[in-house]
Amino acid sequence: MTSTELLRADHLTRHFKIGGALSRRTLHAVDDVNFTIGEREIVALAGESGSGKSTIARVLARISKPTSGEIYFEGKPVSQIRSRADRLRYSGLVPMVFQDPFGSMNPVLRVQHGVLRSLKLHRPSLSAQERSAEAARVFETVGLGADMLERFPYELSGGQRQRVGFAQALAMRPKLILADEPVSMLDVSIRIGLLNLMAELRDTMGVSVLYITHDIASARYVADRLIVMYAGQIAESGPIEEVLADPRHPYTQLLLSAVPDPRAPLSAAGESDRGEPPKVIDPVPGCRFRWRCPLAIDTCAQVTPVLAELQPGHDAACHVAQQADASAVRAFS
Ligand code: ADP
Ligand code: MG
Repeated sequence: MTSTELLRADHLTRHFKIGGALSRRTLHAVDDVNFTIGEREIVALAGESGSGKSTIARVLARISKPTSGEIYFEGKPVSQIRSRADRLRYSGLVPMVFQDPFGSMNPVLRVQHGVLRSLKLHRPSLSAQERSAEAARVFETVGLGADMLERFPYELSGGQRQRVGFAQALAMRPKLILADEPVSMLDVSIRIGLLNLMAELRDTMGVSVLYITHDIASARYVADRLIVMYAGQIAESGPIEEVLADPRHPYTQLLLSAVPDPRAPLSAAGESDRGEPPKVIDPVPGCRFRWRCPLAIDTCAQVTPVLAELQPGHDAACHVAQQADASAVRAFS
């Protein structure tokens, strides 16, 4: 690890009970997931639709309770947060920015309303005048002129509204922004500005970002590390350049093959929709990717693969990749 650990997900699990009384089943949205986010680090969380990305963000934001497992923030277990003051403090340190900021804005209120409300709640010592000055300051930080404060949501472009979402998060002086597909509804030409903003927040303010996306090319553009999810589990994780240069999990390889040119900074591609949907309802043991995997062996149907380190900091949950490495080690000794 290059940076100090800020957040750790430890065996994080979120299941949902689905179906009626007679057909009760369990959907394993997030299953035994372990990862860390460092200070001043942008971690991309990628994977196709339904792989559990948003559920992870919601659990990290404490919007949703984990079924089991723990989150450690600055070394302290988040499940132990009890008082209203501590809950408020955590929600300010770890705010969420959503895919569609329009949906979370009141159309009849000026866009500064949300920022001012956040300031009032999270920084009660500020006077009304200081709040106005601070609102103008965070708007400037996200690249919006002070004249924008008085506008109504419909008067802003999609990119500007998403910047307001980041301004609202910044007003709370966050340490980790959970950005759930923040650019996927924006035109490709607008996306790059938002990605640059995330990089700027990291570089100048030391803010970490969990950048959720199904677009590997945009992840490559902005992230330090990549976590690839498949069917509620981590398939692979590591430094982004290394994972993209040497993907070890067949699912990561499939994802990358769906990107025409991963070196192109921005592309609309990324989501692979080949093969069957992931098996997350009452899953059977074994690898959840094996039905789509061109390399599957007998072990994959019997034993659930666990994430193992193949290179320093580069992990994959794949029997075939792990066996290949083990035999390479034997060949050398
Ligand atoms: P992603 O963000 O990667 O597209 P999600 O985290 O939204 O994936 O969803 C993961 C899985 O959990 C999906 O199968 C989804 O249908 C299911 N899911 C999410 N929230 C709920 C819920 N509240 N109740 C039942 N199932 C849910
Ligand atoms: Mg999602």
